Amino acid sequence: MSINLHAYKDLTEELAQKQVILVAVSKLKPPSDIRQLYELGHRDFGENYVQELVDKKERLPADINWHFIGHLQSNKVKYIAPFINLIHSVDTGSLLREINKQAKKNDRIIDVLLQLYIATEESKFGLSEEELTEIVSNRNLYPNVRIRGIMAMASFSPDENLLREEFSKVKEAFEKHKDIGWTILSTGMTNDYKLAIEEGSNMVRIGSLIFGNRGKE
Ligand SMILES: *Cc1c(COP(=O)(O)O)cnc(C)c1O
Repeated sequence: MSINLHAYKDLTEELAQKQVILVAVSKLKPPSDIRQLYELGHRDFGENYVQELVDKKERLPADINWHFIGHLQSNKVKYIAPFINLIHSVDTGSLLREINKQAKKNDRIIDVLLQLYIATEESKFGLSEEELTEIVSNRNLYPNVRIRGIMAMASFSPDENLLREEFSKVKEAFEKHKDIGWTILSTGMTNDYKLAIEEGSNMVRIGSLIFGNRGKE
């Protein structure tokens, strides 16, 4: 198995033009694939599973920016707190409290995104707009985390109108809180990143387009 270099190069050109940051989603792919992109200068990688991330972190160069994008259980925060660069998937207040606690233990400030629930599918995680607003107004309780913006996953659907509607909802929530220093809007994956960017995304999380299909998860 190896990565799709053509797709990666086209993608990075397209994203550079639009000033969108690429998080290469390397979950379930071997460290050798990550190293291949690393050698081309890529530094931002996204992972979904704590143990897998910790294993890869130990085996790969220290200057990689690791993004945690999967559902995060509070009892596992301690394993990634020493090094994680951005946690995209804060979906409860209690998770944020735990991240703050572990950040403090490690004498760090950890950057996070709040995950907003926008999809029509019930299986997805995320905060409602009310919960998000509540966390934002309580942000002073978490001095060791810095909320940098919002992450969301749209429905898995070919319906463009539905996707646009969902993405623009995220953008709206993002704009509402921009005055407190939010800069990151993380939406868009292999199947919907173009639409996501048209609707305001400035950070996309792309896996299969670069690394190939993952098979069954
Ligand atoms: C797996 C995953 C991605 C990447 O998905 P692709 O369709 O492979 O681009 C992005 N975001 C999250 C949260 C993921 O779990």
